[in-house]
Amino acid sequence: MTDESQAMSGVTDGPLLSVENLRTTFYTDQETIHAVDGVSFTVSPQQTLGVVGESGSGKSVTARSILGLVDDPGRVHPDSEIRYHDPAFVQTVARTYPDRVTWAGEKTARSASDAFVTIESGSGEGSSVTVERGSVNLVAAPDDVTRSLRGSEVAMVFQDAQTALNPVYTVGNQIKELLDIHQGLSGTEATEAAADLLESVGIPDPKRRLSEYPHQFSGGMQQRTVIALALACDPAVLLCDEPTTALDVTIQAQILELLERLQHERNLSILFITHDMGVIAQVADAVAVMYAGEVVEQASVDRLFDQPRHPYTQGLLQSIPGLASEGDRLPTIDGRVPTPNEPATYCRYAPRCPEAFEECKSTHPERVPVDSANEKSGWMRAHTAACLLYPEDESLENRLQMHHNFGTPGESDAATTAREDD
Ligand code: SF4
Repeated sequence: MTDESQAMSGVTDGPLLSVENLRTTFYTDQETIHAVDGVSFTVSPQQTLGVVGESGSGKSVTARSILGLVDDPGRVHPDSEIRYHDPAFVQTVARTYPDRVTWAGEKTARSASDAFVTIESGSGEGSSVTVERGSVNLVAAPDDVTRSLRGSEVAMVFQDAQTALNPVYTVGNQIKELLDIHQGLSGTEATEAAADLLESVGIPDPKRRLSEYPHQFSGGMQQRTVIALALACDPAVLLCDEPTTALDVTIQAQILELLERLQHERNLSILFITHDMGVIAQVADAVAVMYAGEVVEQASVDRLFDQPRHPYTQGLLQSIPGLASEGDRLPTIDGRVPTPNEPATYCRYAPRCPEAFEECKSTHPERVPVDSANEKSGWMRAHTAACLLYPEDESLENRLQMHHNFGTPGESDAATTAREDD
């Protein structure tokens, strides 16, 4: 974990992955579940963004949406944006799909309505285009673009190592299969590369271990193997979905240490999903707190722990064992995360919120800066919260007006940015 200034310096370099107004909905015969409802965040190069919340808050669906792994009956809304900004990747895609490129700032838009590649700076055209800055919107891109990104640019470390590993193939076969598909390695070359990967995640005697089956590995070694599989194609971004949840605290600490080392060695950006605030404090540079499909607070990790503003975040932090004085009963948040099965026209946290007031039942809070000082620092760096109590230095009347004006969930970031541009 870096300090706040380091965390913020990553942001100024521009994001590697940005998610804007992501909405993923599951349509069943009985109901429509807005599992992810207007989520926006960015992950900067070599930064760890922690995503924290209770079960059912939409964390895992957010990660699966990024990789195009949402199963039926789930769908990512076409107006959502998941942008990958690596110039080399953008350039390759732009050369493959020259008719679906739009140039930012171009006066006469030659963009087709189905354009999904945006080039901000670069030169050339068609197969000779060179990209300095740009992005690919994965939501609008054809499946083969998402497939080419999966594994080789953005990879996932799954929560349950036992499920993630195939019990009937040796560990070596599983790693070598990936190396064959993505890097064309086979034979001795693939065996050497697979052993190197196992060694890099701290598995001793890696050559011998390649011929063993997952059930011959301990829980910690299985989780290390899942990380090795994710690293097989040398990705730039790791999506870690509760990678330490099933492990005891000693092994958990070892896995967190391993991820930190790998991040430095390989310049990885990490999206780290967990329900554990203690883990977030250890690994994250910035934090997005999710509740019922929405990001309800976002800040640098230091600021979030020093000055939590959203009542939900405050409740989560108060319920961390060890922070209460000896003999005190540990505070809990009563109730459960609701299933977000209706449009958010109110605060979804209101039934559990100790600070709820009348307007919380009729106004949907958008994510706004917690005070005007934060507003000036730009929305990506700002401390933001989706709560009608903020910005705290505005009158209630102004706050309600502000949240009303932001309209549908997820527009707050755009609105804040627009206000900065004024
Ligand atoms: S909007 Fe109201 S109910 Fe929701 S978190 Fe804020 S104070 Fe609580």
